[in-house]
Amino acid sequence: MAVTYLKKAPRRPASEDRDIRDTVAIMLANIERVGEEAVRNYAERLDRWSGNIVVSDADRKAACDRVPRDLKEDIQFAHRNIRRFAEAQKSTMGECEVELLPGLIAGQKQIPVSSAGCYVPGGRYSHIASALMTITTAKVAGVPHITAVSPPRPGTGIPDAIIYAMDLSGADLILNLGGVQGIAAMAQGLFGAQPADILVGPGNSYVAEAKRMLFGKVGIDMFAGPTDSLVIADHSASVDTVAWDLVSQAEHGADSPVWLVSTDKALADGVLDRVPALIDELPEPNASAARTAWNERAEVILCDTREEAAQVADCYAPEHLQVQAEDLDWWLNRLSAYGSLFLGAETTVSFGDKTSGPNHVLPTSGAARYTGGLSVHKFTKTVTWQRCNAEASHELALRTARISRIEGMEGHARAAEIRLRDHTA
Ligand code: NAD
Repeated sequence: MAVTYLKKAPRRPASEDRDIRDTVAIMLANIERVGEEAVRNYAERLDRWSGNIVVSDADRKAACDRVPRDLKEDIQFAHRNIRRFAEAQKSTMGECEVELLPGLIAGQKQIPVSSAGCYVPGGRYSHIASALMTITTAKVAGVPHITAVSPPRPGTGIPDAIIYAMDLSGADLILNLGGVQGIAAMAQGLFGAQPADILVGPGNSYVAEAKRMLFGKVGIDMFAGPTDSLVIADHSASVDTVAWDLVSQAEHGADSPVWLVSTDKALADGVLDRVPALIDELPEPNASAARTAWNERAEVILCDTREEAAQVADCYAPEHLQVQAEDLDWWLNRLSAYGSLFLGAETTVSFGDKTSGPNHVLPTSGAARYTGGLSVHKFTKTVTWQRCNAEASHELALRTARISRIEGMEGHARAAEIRLRDHTA
């Protein structure tokens, strides 16, 4: 494959990951041992929050009342699209029933989990959309208890617009908690929360690590750490549009990689030239975050053919994949590893991040090789059932007993044979 790196990112030191793992392990162990008091201490130390942890009904209503009408309408617009997309997903979920032998009937059901914990990130930005994406999807899936947490701002708590989005989406309980302490509180069922069966939502490296460490005790949606994005662009793309798409995703944080894969050297050189100037147009601290992400994490890769570009994209398995190139149907059919795909210059990851409908909680760090993003399916268990009449039971018992004895499992053979004696024709 003829691939040339016009810009390459250094490898991230493994020691960074180890430090985060150690910190999170200590915090989780402490919260498990001490409980709510440990959570309060972390909230005070890390987020300078010593107010109420539970957002009361009165506080919820007051926060909603303070949100300006125009913003409410925008949030409602996004909520409608996200809900309708989740409802469409739900309508495709398969329940089935099949007669495998005369009298042997087996089936599959979809059962929502009993409780979900939704993490809404809020350290750097107010991620209103993450509240809509996680809680709305859980609600449509039919989850009966939904707890939502987000980092409180010192002195004021969770921003009003996030509380409004949580309320509109159907959160049963809202906690002024961020980071590891928020995740642990939902997992353990502290502050009146129903212990979460599944923890969902994006977050920084501490949040992602906490979810990963708790996986097994509870379910998680996926590994959703720092956001990453890849743009494929050919000669037909606009330098400015591609450059803004990369800058907008680098704005997420200093640890957010952005990658450009192009079959056109002039386009790639143009973007390399343009990005630093566009970053300078952002306000602080966004500009600093985007600059560090661009300088330390970004890559620009030149390929000879579109097939090579597709192979590179599949290899990176990005969270967001944008294609600004001719023949969009070819790309839709060919690409096979991404969290969400954005086809054509008329759309952008920003639409998907905020308002368009498909979920923005997506696999990062290459996890798109093995999973898709948050959906109603993640809140639902695909379970099976079976029943049979006496005739089917007779045949199953004979065959099961023989296989069980060959396996050395006498108990299984006896359980089969008791059917021959007491329950078959
Ligand atoms: P966050 O809410 O994820 O994290 C803030 C919390 O981190 C704080 O409440 C604090 O408790 C904790 N924390 C900070 N420093 C710590 C330390 N040294 N030790 C222990 N805990 C510490 O908000 P954020 O930091 O702004 O990160 C948001 C992340 O979410 C970004 O990485 C962004 O890319 C990502 N994101 C991803 C998606 C997606 O769909 N994948 C969507 C939105 C945001």
